[in-house]
Amino acid sequence: AKDQGRNRFHYFTPSMQEEARYRMVLIRDLRKAVKQQEFEVYYQPIIDLTNEQVYKAEALIRWHHPERGLVSPAEFIPIAEDTGLIIDIGNWVFEQAAMQSAAWREKFGVEIQISINKSPIQFRDEGDSFENWIIKLQELNLASNGICVEITEGLLLDASMGVSEKLLAYRDAGIQVSLDDFGTGYSSLAYLKKFDIDYLKIDQSFTRNLESDPNDATLCEAIIVMAHKLGMKVIAEGVETKEQQQILSAAGCNYGQGYLFSKPVPYAEFEAKYLKTSEQ
Ligand code: C2E
Ligand code: CA
Ligand code: CA
Ligand code: CA
Repeated sequence: AKDQGRNRFHYFTPSMQEEARYRMVLIRDLRKAVKQQEFEVYYQPIIDLTNEQVYKAEALIRWHHPERGLVSPAEFIPIAEDTGLIIDIGNWVFEQAAMQSAAWREKFGVEIQISINKSPIQFRDEGDSFENWIIKLQELNLASNGICVEITEGLLLDASMGVSEKLLAYRDAGIQVSLDDFGTGYSSLAYLKKFDIDYLKIDQSFTRNLESDPNDATLCEAIIVMAHKLGMKVIAEGVETKEQQQILSAAGCNYGQGYLFSKPVPYAEFEAKYLKTSEQ
């Protein structure tokens, strides 16, 4: 216990200094990236497990850093949230996805629903332009259910700042809602019935050991049964093997997303793989 006490002191080591410096550089670069549009939206298909067809797509941001190359969103989204840059970035992703969906409808005659990750910070921000999203969809003449917003469990526990009002406004406008990373947050199941949620996404940490860990299979089955009884469809994330797909299908899971089907890809690749008509 004495050792623990001593170790609790964190001295400012050179490596921490480096870390702090790296963070500052990243913040500076991120501001520049927003101005200079160094981002790109990738699309990952979400597959209907009953017929193995593409059901919809998730938009996932990519940052092409001029020197560092591709920077993972896992690295820069938290910084974007801390600095408030997530507001501009989030609106940009939304516009790209909405315009892409409209372009695909023009070109292929299909309206593919696109899921967009929305950070809790965006919901809490005063200047969150959720009304603008609805207006933009109208401008593009997109069905409002052409867009789905992915939120995480923590948001539902946050009664403040009009979160539930905003979710209701989405609902009224026909925008669908997915509960992302289900099972990893501090969820209260009561919120599942309080909010009208369309899709529940089983986190990849449950999907990962589906073949080897019977407990994970049991959890997945229970989540699927519960979600269905509450009127939600279920998407399993991180599906990487055929066996996982089979176990999920047998358990009644509606949709799957993962490397087994496809990694997130640039729009042109998504088109070529999933949207080209047979004549082309
Ligand atoms: P997420 O929303 O849970 O997205 C799923 C992540 O799992 C993506 O990582 C995706 O590439 C990855 N993935 C998909 N299939 C598989 C698989 O079979 N195996 C494994 N190991 N991974 C798989 P990505 O694109 O690196 O994004 C990481 C996180 O960054 C996202 O997690 C999301 O929380 C955040 N993010 C990405 N784009 C945006 C955005 O536009 N806005 C916001 N607010 N957050 C974003
Ligand atoms: Ca997501
Ligand atoms: Ca997720
Ligand atoms: Ca519902």
